[in-house]
Amino acid sequence: MGEHVETLVIGAGPAGLSAAHALACAGRTVTVIEADAIGGAARTLSFDGFSLDVSGRRLSSADPAIRAFWTALLPNDLVEAPSAMRLEGERAARGRPGAAIGALLTARLRPIANSKTLGEWLTRRFGRRVARRLGDYAHKLWALRPEETPAQPACPSFQSESGSLPRLGTGQLWDSCAQVIRAAGGEILLGRKATGLRRDRATGVWTVTAETGQGTTQTLTADQVISTMPLRELMGALSPTPISLFHACELMYRDQVTVAFAAKPGRRRAPALAEIHDPQIKAARARALDGGALDGGALALDYYCFEGDATWVSDDGVLIAQAVAEAGRLGLIAPGSARDVQVVRQRKVHPIHDECCDEHLKMIGLDLRLHFTGLHLAGRAGTHGDSADDQSIRTGLSAAANVLARVLAPVRVAA
Ligand SMILES: Cc1cc2nc3c(=O)[nH]c(=O)nc-3n(C[C@H](O)[C@H](O)[C@H](O)COP(=O)(O)OP(=O)(O)OC[C@H]3O[C@@H](n4cnc5c(N)ncnc54)[C@H](O)[C@@H]3O)c2cc1C
Repeated sequence: MGEHVETLVIGAGPAGLSAAHALACAGRTVTVIEADAIGGAARTLSFDGFSLDVSGRRLSSADPAIRAFWTALLPNDLVEAPSAMRLEGERAARGRPGAAIGALLTARLRPIANSKTLGEWLTRRFGRRVARRLGDYAHKLWALRPEETPAQPACPSFQSESGSLPRLGTGQLWDSCAQVIRAAGGEILLGRKATGLRRDRATGVWTVTAETGQGTTQTLTADQVISTMPLRELMGALSPTPISLFHACELMYRDQVTVAFAAKPGRRRAPALAEIHDPQIKAARARALDGGALDGGALALDYYCFEGDATWVSDDGVLIAQAVAEAGRLGLIAPGSARDVQVVRQRKVHPIHDECCDEHLKMIGLDLRLHFTGLHLAGRAGTHGDSADDQSIRTGLSAAANVLARVLAPVRVAA
């Protein structure tokens, strides 16, 4: 039998680290296992000459407690970050279309609360013309037309996204969080991919098997488990086989391929972050790296795809040629100036919410509550959550609060 821990957290992305931080700071023992690197999809990669935030997202939350959590981690290193722009062929517009006065009037006259689909919501909020453009972007994002997309989980993607960023990139925040966890006695084990989770019905103890990457496995036991691994993968790893496995297998995700390169500036100033609505351009987002100006800096183009599809399996050379050509067409780089090109693939960045998703999630939730006590879900792909910016952190903190509530309550069956 392997090492026993009070709470085992699967995944060292924002959700797992937020949960582990709350537990370690409350004096509980916690171990995090991570298949890859600290920070998950919010990590920062360093290349020759530039660094790349894999997510390209700002820190933005309406919740003062979450903003205070960020500030406590990086008291002197958070800087304001501009909101996203739209890039449409030759034109670039600052801010979200929702800022327009006409759109606000429309929103007042036609309340958006009752919109069933994203298409309805966009039309009511922004008017037909802008909604069509945003619909093209939504299709790049989720591979669903707005009329096939339920309004609710999708809408936050189209709200304002100004916020702050750590000076050295989003990864800085999570590196700092990991340091605090370790200083408080928590353990973070990298290179451990959870492949099996079993709950002993008699004792309530969890056994988690993790592959180490060197062909060996490690077994850990825990009183409670917080999982931030993608929900579909978690359900496949549980034993006994969950009765809702069929529902889990129906959950879908979008994956991301990013092509980043240094280049000379083009005729148009590269934006810090822009969504590309033009359907003729395959890239969904463009971002100037290292501060937002291309002089001496670099550019990244993000493509959304399905793991295993033509984009995902494309030769890096093909992806690079496409990205450089599209950046040139958008006027963001000088022709022939791209160099030091990097291709980064990131799995399961967007849970997809089609019209059946709610039903699947309801059945999975019921199954887990009834048969897998002591397992807590957190994270974006871990809960198959919505697009709100602070979703992963909120769910991480709430999973930690649930763990604390159970640990303190006298509900454990003696082994
Ligand atoms: C393209 C893109 C779009 C984004 N859009 C949004 C958005 O709309 N809203 C938003 O809030 N944020 C968004 N993000 C930002 C941010 O990156 C995520 O919110 C955040 O990273 C999610 O945190 P998480 O901990 O839930 O998941 P992740 O960051 O994915 O972290 C999960 C971690 O678990 C690890 N893991 C997975 N499976 C296992 C396993 N079996 N065993 C051990 N470890 C495992 C992974 O390696 C990873 O490190 C986006 C990011 C990207 C790249």
